Amino acid sequence: MIQLNDVTKQYKTSNGPLTAVDQVNLKIQDGEIFGIIGYSGAGKSTMIRLFNGLEKPTSGSVIVNGEDISKIKGAKLRNARHKISMVFQHFNLLWSRTVEDNIAFSLEVAGVKKEARKKKVAELIELVGLTGREKAYPSQLSGGQKQRVGIARALANDPEVLLCDEATSALDPETTDAILDLLRSVNEKLNITIILITHEMHVIRKICNRVAVMEAGKVVEQGDVLQVFESP
Ligand code: ADP
Ligand code: ADP
Repeated sequence: MIQLNDVTKQYKTSNGPLTAVDQVNLKIQDGEIFGIIGYSGAGKSTMIRLFNGLEKPTSGSVIVNGEDISKIKGAKLRNARHKISMVFQHFNLLWSRTVEDNIAFSLEVAGVKKEARKKKVAELIELVGLTGREKAYPSQLSGGQKQRVGIARALANDPEVLLCDEATSALDPETTDAILDLLRSVNEKLNITIILITHEMHVIRKICNRVAVMEAGKVVEQGDVLQVFESP
């Protein structure tokens, strides 16, 4: 479970403090698909950096699986971070590596032996629907295929949470739907919590259970998607 208790994040700027996240309370349960929606500047990127410990709150606490991640350091913090994996808008693949080597990279870094790596990569390639494209380079893939690699790579180290930062914003509507279907199946098959950050309402409507709406650093509404976005 991820819990934000009265979290405020201020940045120091030449014009004085700027409040990017303003007294936010949020509870994301294990196994749910939770959306955070807002316009540019609403505070979504800051929220991501609070979730994965890259920023410390100015006040309040960020609890990930029972631990206040603004209060832990070193190996404990690295451990907590490993449980949260990122999927990016622009994929962030290694361009000189093949599909399978991109997926294997974090396993290599983690010291996983070659045989175990091969097995894991093969499983992930099947899971994300890239069978036959193992030896392709990113430049030879469509946007949707690149994001499939991004998702497989994010899953390689068995995270508990997938943090998707505008993961479909660079894709056309049809490809967006296919990627969202994939994320839902990942959520169901692997029981992974998914947090989707987006400015697009249809993304939230399509796969999220619950949503928080952000405006100028505040969560102005949160709850079941159907209730929050119910048409009048
Ligand atoms: P997005 O809306 O996709 O977050 P931005 O252009 O707002 O993109 O931000 C890009 C990066 O620059 C982010 O990491 C953000 O935190 C940082 N950033 C945004 N505004 C400022 C600012 N006023 N001063 C310093 N860094 C900023
Ligand atoms: P979003 O991701 O929703 O676009 P951000 O979290 O990037 O929102 O930004 C929220 C506010 O905080 C914006 O006003 C932005 O300019 C500001 N901001 C973000 N990062 C920084 C930073 N590193 N330094 C100063 N201001 C920042």
